[in-house]
Amino acid sequence: MATIADNLQRVRARLQQACAQAGRDPAGVRLLAVSKTWGADAVRAAHAAGQRAFGENYVQEGVDKVQRLRADGVEGLEWHCIGPLQSNKTRPVAEHFDWVHTVDRLKIAQRLSEQRPPGLAPLQVCVQVNVDGGPNKSGVAPADALALAQAVAALPRLRLRGLMCIPEPAPDVAAACAVFGRARALWEQLRAAGLDLDTLSMGMSDDLEAAVASGSTLVRVGSAIFGARHYPA
Ligand SMILES: *Cc1c(COP(=O)(O)O)cnc(C)c1O
Repeated sequence: MATIADNLQRVRARLQQACAQAGRDPAGVRLLAVSKTWGADAVRAAHAAGQRAFGENYVQEGVDKVQRLRADGVEGLEWHCIGPLQSNKTRPVAEHFDWVHTVDRLKIAQRLSEQRPPGLAPLQVCVQVNVDGGPNKSGVAPADALALAQAVAALPRLRLRGLMCIPEPAPDVAAACAVFGRARALWEQLRAAGLDLDTLSMGMSDDLEAAVASGSTLVRVGSAIFGARHYPA
């Protein structure tokens, strides 16, 4: 059976290849290992194989893992919250995570900024954009992204880093690239408007090649590293 270290090697090779094909420097694409549903042991195995940045979707599960690994003395981990955020769940996120990718309204950003402990570095945030317009999806509408990003950038305890999107699975690479390309164009537009952005969070296990070809700077990869997820019934 492939180990987490083997899988990480394979994902890194895919990223290298995708960057080579796109004529991009591999240093410009970060790998976020999405460890949701997996235990602290899986994170430790990935850490031993050189992985440092981990993504979690569920606040309590994430906080438990952060605390567990800290208590175990595992050093240098960076924790990213990539799940939908309700305003009554912002405090543990502000207190335990390094990044939040899913800011899609100002109220959430204001609470995160107010609740970020003064002793910690500013919380690094991305604004989530509903780039393919699904009616029931999280994410700000593309037309409202600039105003939200400007308001978020002005909050004292947050540092706005970029945009994040989770498009619907596309039927083929060309369709995936078209949607990712819209996110990239919006990101460029915000930069042109004067926002200091360096992160475009897009691409997962099945579509990281299309995301890299379209300008992603951070791919969020779960199952290709840890295996298929099993959700409790
Ligand atoms: C679960 C999840 C991922 C990882 O998905 P895989 O297909 O397992 O790579 C990436 N981003 C978000 C927001 C997720 O919820």
